[in-house]
Amino acid sequence: MVVDQNFLNIAESYIIILIMDDVVIVGGGIIGASTAYFLAKEGRKVKVIERDPTYKNASFPLSLGGFRRQFFQKENILLGKFAREFIINIPEVLKTEKNPNPTASMVTNGYLLMFGPEHAEEQYRALENHKACDAGTKNIKGSELNKIFPYINSDGIETATYTDNKTEGWIDPFMFHGALKSKAIELGAEFIKGEIKSLNEIKAKIIVSAAGCWTNELLEDIPVVPQKHTVFRVKCPKHIPEMPLTGDLTTGVYWRPEGKEYLAGSPLSVFDANDLEPAWNDFEELVWPALAKRIPAFEELKLTGGWAGYYDCNKLDNNAVVGKHPKYDNVYMASGFTGRGLMQAPGIGRALTELITTGSYQTIDISAFAVERVLNKKVRHEPYVL
Ligand SMILES: Cc1cc2nc3c(=O)[nH]c(=O)nc-3n(C[C@H](O)[C@H](O)[C@H](O)COP(=O)(O)OP(=O)(O)OC[C@H]3O[C@@H](n4cnc5c(N)ncnc54)[C@H](O)[C@@H]3O)c2cc1C
Repeated sequence: MVVDQNFLNIAESYIIILIMDDVVIVGGGIIGASTAYFLAKEGRKVKVIERDPTYKNASFPLSLGGFRRQFFQKENILLGKFAREFIINIPEVLKTEKNPNPTASMVTNGYLLMFGPEHAEEQYRALENHKACDAGTKNIKGSELNKIFPYINSDGIETATYTDNKTEGWIDPFMFHGALKSKAIELGAEFIKGEIKSLNEIKAKIIVSAAGCWTNELLEDIPVVPQKHTVFRVKCPKHIPEMPLTGDLTTGVYWRPEGKEYLAGSPLSVFDANDLEPAWNDFEELVWPALAKRIPAFEELKLTGGWAGYYDCNKLDNNAVVGKHPKYDNVYMASGFTGRGLMQAPGIGRALTELITTGSYQTIDISAFAVERVLNKKVRHEPYVL
């Protein structure tokens, strides 16, 4: 029998399409799990490839779990607002047969960010964006800080912004990830152990790179790299359980209560680190003095532990890189969150799903984060990195 070559070619392409996966996500961290959940909810057949299902070096379990809407750029403010809306609905939207009572252990103490004279003008401009996005933040002069936060020494603080309406706070990152992953699995997503060396290995209609700080190993033209940050755990005889997640922008030190103790982040970070050993010297030299200056009760602190983790740092401008990669037909990516990937995970998972299923953003327009911005080196700096 003579078979037309054209027919064979068409049949071959058809068979390849039939045996192809629908969506393959590389990286099963918080961005991968959230994207898997939102895509599976839309009926897409999702496989998530994760090289280390213990997640010991992944960024999300080592994060501080903070969610806030206090940013400069509107996209970040709106993503922060959606984070809270999503987290508060976890018991309803992420419940599964196996996990009927999901929670991310939300604490809604709010955020307090304090600025010296050198950052005040920028903060006043940020407040216009807060207002435009209905962020619900409050602003006070440094000299008034003490009326609301009596334990704070306001020396050198020009202006401060905070929330007291339970719209900002922190969660347990591991529980959040577990709840997203369980729901994604119930909706049909598969999580598979494996390491992808090159995106060319994958035969799928859609590929999503959610490789966190290792993105650059898969997409060489994306300047997202590991940036090591250290967090210290401290004990203080004076316990202030209502304390918000507080950032002192005059020193870059930030802290929050953790049970009966506190966590405090060093403002110093390291690129090209060889390991995740915490930068212990930062505590005595930098972090403790800054904490004790701002909160006199912290003079009596005792260091009880610490760890280090990697930010997925976008070296161009500290902003996320999300969307379709223009050099490929079917590759999407999300990374470069530079200290805010946990809180942005729900918004990014939803946004990527909209882009993949409809071709455009339907809710929060994050086209400003497009891959093209980074490839064309169009800097769009987000100043409020903690
Ligand atoms: C100290 C610290 C404090 C932080 N505090 C906050 C905070 O308060 N709030 C906030 O929102 N964010 C915070 N972050 C940032 C946040 O943790 C990250 O932005 C976020 O976890 C990024 O999520 P991700 O899923 O992209 O990356 P990850 O969580 O790192 O997940 C990426 C996964 O991809 C896998 N992977 C990579 N390459 C491959 C490959 N080739 N094949 C297979 N698998 C692969 C990795 O094993 C990893 O599990 C903090 C981070 C640190 C380190």
